[in-house]
Amino acid sequence: MSQRFVGEVFRSTFKTVDKDVLHWFPGHMGKGLKQMQNKLKSVDCIIEVHDARIPFSGRNTEFKYKISGIKPHILVMNKVDLIPQEIIPQITQKLNKDCPNVVFTNCKNQKCKGIKSIFPLAQDLINNSDRFNRSNEEDFCIMIIGIPNVGKSSLVNSLRNRFLRKASAAPVGAVPGITRSVMNKIKMCEKPLFYMLDTPGILTPTIASTDVGLKLALCATIQDHLVGQIVR
Ligand code: GDP
Repeated sequence: MSQRFVGEVFRSTFKTVDKDVLHWFPGHMGKGLKQMQNKLKSVDCIIEVHDARIPFSGRNTEFKYKISGIKPHILVMNKVDLIPQEIIPQITQKLNKDCPNVVFTNCKNQKCKGIKSIFPLAQDLINNSDRFNRSNEEDFCIMIIGIPNVGKSSLVNSLRNRFLRKASAAPVGAVPGITRSVMNKIKMCEKPLFYMLDTPGILTPTIASTDVGLKLALCATIQDHLVGQIVR
């Protein structure tokens, strides 16, 4: 085994997230947001996915005004396997002030109760909402939104595997930025007939603080080089 000194491996200085990163908004994200707005008229419900490790940080504030405001909205806290289970009620209570429909999921576990509850909840919310131009449509269409790398594609795949017994349809990756444009409708469930639109991860155009920026980087929702990588 080669011998390495601690100083060679760990950084001696730490570059915090600077102003450029806090206002970092790549072109494909602006384009993605516009594509999502254009698709809104063919959607009945919005599922916003976020990382349960940072439930109160980093959600895109633009979604509320531009995407989810007028449609039924389910907030999915994914990666629940990575947080202590005893803090879930506390998190739920706080999130309920903003969104009454909060579901916790683990896309690594097909038996997860949260995943099972999503379509019945969505169906209920849609049936109790004004579907506007879609009131005569027999199928339900859900748009899945969120910042990068929180598990949107994994959730699409888990739901599809669970309700349709079909293989994965959306590409999954451990680095942010795998899904870059709004995809076509993916069939998710036969009875009732559910379709879903996977969308690219869209960061909030302005990250509130260095603290939030670091949390986002730790959860791999912004790329490591933006907060400074260790040079080996
Ligand atoms: P997207 O960019 O939001 O579509 O995220 P992906 O679905 O591509 O997932 C990003 C990464 O998170 C991948 O490495 C997934 O394997 C991982 N991931 C997704 N869901 C979960 C989960 O519930 N638990 C854990 N531990 N990892 C997950």
